[in-house]
Order: sequence, then C-alpha cells, then structure tokens
Amino acid sequence: MNKIRYFDHAATTAVDEQVLNEMIPYFSIEYGNPSSIYSIGRNAKKAIEEARSRVAHAINCDAKEIYFTGCGSESDNFALKGVARANRSKGNHIITTKIEHPAILNTCKTLKNEGFIITYLDVDENGLINIDDLKNRITDKTILISIMFANNEIGTIQPIEEIGKIAKSKNIIFHTDSVQAVGNVEIDVRRMNIDLLSMSAHKFYGPKGVGAIYIRNGVKCNKIQDGGHQEKNKRAGTENVAGIVGLGSAVQRAYKNLKSYNAKLRKLRDYYESEVEKNIPYIKINGHKTNRLPGNSNISFKFVDGEALLLNLDMKGICASAGSACSSGSTEPSHVLLAIGLPDNIAKGTLRITFGMENTKDDVDYLVNCLVEIVQNLRNNSSEYLEFINKTNK
Ligand code: PLP
Repeated sequence: MNKIRYFDHAATTAVDEQVLNEMIPYFSIEYGNPSSIYSIGRNAKKAIEEARSRVAHAINCDAKEIYFTGCGSESDNFALKGVARANRSKGNHIITTKIEHPAILNTCKTLKNEGFIITYLDVDENGLINIDDLKNRITDKTILISIMFANNEIGTIQPIEEIGKIAKSKNIIFHTDSVQAVGNVEIDVRRMNIDLLSMSAHKFYGPKGVGAIYIRNGVKCNKIQDGGHQEKNKRAGTENVAGIVGLGSAVQRAYKNLKSYNAKLRKLRDYYESEVEKNIPYIKINGHKTNRLPGNSNISFKFVDGEALLLNLDMKGICASAGSACSSGSTEPSHVLLAIGLPDNIAKGTLRITFGMENTKDDVDYLVNCLVEIVQNLRNNSSEYLEFINKTNK
C-alpha cells in the first residue's frame, strides 16, 4: 500500500491538531445548549462569541456582522436568496459569473424560477471577468452582484476591490463567495466594499459542516431557515458549538501564518509546474499567471482522460482532482474550463493539484515522477495521440 500523498486541499483539508484540541471539550464537557442559562450553556455561548470575534477580526468587520451556518453552500444560499427576496421591491436583476460554484449557480436557477433575471458574466482565457462588461450589464433593476473571490478549479482571483467600488457607487449589494479565498488571501471587507461574504471551515484546516456568512450591518437580507431565535433570529437551529469553535480557531491560525503559508505553497506550486513543463510535453497550465491562489495548479494534459489519470494516481497513493470535487464522478467537462475557452477534449484531460500545509518537495518529486509515467502510458493507448505522433514524425 502506497503512502497517501494528499494534493486536494481545495476539496477539503484535515483538521489541524490544535484546532481539534480546542474543539474537543465542546463535545462532552462543555456540551450545554448555548441558549440555556445555566453555566455549561453560558460557557458554550461564550465560546461561540469568541469564535465570532476571531472570524470578524480575520476579515475586518464587526462581530455582530458574522452569522454561523452549516457550510459554504448554505452561506451562498443565504446571501443570494436572502438579499434577492428582501430587496425584491427595488428590482429583480442579479449579476454573477459563468464560473461560480454550483452553490451559487443552482441557487440562481431557483431564483430565476421565482422571477429574478440572472446575468452570467463571461470570463477571459485566464478566468477573469471584464470590469467594463460588469459596468455595462448593470441596469436600474440590478439589486445584487455575486462574484466569487477565487475560483475553486483554476484558482483565479477576481479584482474584488474594483468590483466593490462599482457596486458601492451604484448602490448595489455585493456578495462574494470566498470559500476558497478565506485562509489563503488577505481579506478586508471594509476596504474592499464587500457587503456579504461566504466561508467554510473545512477549506482552511477547520472541521466540515460549519460555515459563516458576513452580512454588513444595514444590508437587507431575509433569513432562509425558520425556527428558533439563534444567530440573532437570522439562522434557526441549535448551534454546532464544537464546529464553530473549530472555525474560529482555524481562521485565526490561518491569518496568523498567512504570509509564510502562502510563500510555502507558492514555492511548491511553482516547482511542480516547472517540473511538469520540463518533463511532460503537450500540456496547458490554466488560471491567471499571477492573480491565482498560491496553492492551486490546474493543468490540462492533451491526449489524456482526466478520470483515467485520477484512477492511476490513486493507485500510487496520490489524491487529486480532475476538476472541482463536486463535479468529479461526472464525465461532463467542467463549466469553468469551458468558460475559459478550452475545447471539450482538452478540458477532459485536466488535473487540479492543490497544495497544503503538510506537502513537501519530496511529495512533489514523487507526484511528477508518477505523472510522467502515467501520462505517457495513457497517451500510448490513445489513438488520437498515436495519430498525432505519426503525423508529426512524417
Ligand atoms: N463555494 C466554493 C467556491 C467552493 O469551492 C465550495 C466547496 O468546494 C463551496 C462554495 C461549498 O462549500 P461547502 O462544501 O462548505 O458547502
């Protein structure tokens, strides 16, 4: 059995040991319901408020503007449905992009069925929106702009500050799905004029099944879940206390170590890409060259099937992704890769590697060695490749 080498940190991360240590007491010692008035209830409530302050500090907002949710997808649903429904009297137009996560795209479908009109912005070959295009698509009915901070497949980081300025000048609410950005990129919601922001703990060494949403004070956003009065009446349900403690701890740790973490990931990623370029022909590196998450590498290998590549890597103990985690298992080429202009057959041969805390240069050498061998084997079994080689050799 091969040692597991994990290169899929955009799908999820292991819970950091110190984060876990902070969470543990809230399972079976401080297990009170935070709504209860006795001591263990009060202790749980206190822990939630401490986590709220940590999250607020990380993105520069007020703790009162943070609400805990069950995941990044819920935060996205909350932002879009909540804002759209609360501001319906002002207009029914929403602007987003073609490369959003399904948590946004499928929520937009629901809103379309409720009578909202959705504009999906194109992106260029690097995955960036065009700012003039955004300006031109705004109408007097536009109530919400939702544009992801960083893309989960190709890592491209959007010009969030510029978008925030435009939204503010037009009095339009601006939401950003920052599930991939939080813990990887510096975020200042005040300076960037962000009105709502989604995050998810499991992307930055916190636990799965807990997220948060920042809703700027004064932004009208309906709740989407009815029930009790938790989270200032905005999100019903007994809080996931241990999870929330984990989120708070993880986000604090992420921002404390951001510079060195980014530098480490960038070094590993750049080394990996240069080794692949050196050793494997007929490849294309996707995503923006500089405005990209430091740990993200998305490479299309021509004449290779991505699923077959993943299975072969798995046999060597390597965990990676062919596109986004949510779309793996489907044989459809990724909507993000199609949006940046890749043809179907190239998009289907794409490998997403996302580096993390525990990866080393040795891991990268192992990965590249395996890739060289597997890619060549797969190509040798591809009639398209053999035809191509025959033609080029003539
Ligand atoms: N948005 C983006 C950009 C993501 O990458 C993901 C998860 O991969 C989500 C939203 C959904 O987050 P969660 O898995 O916490 O629901």
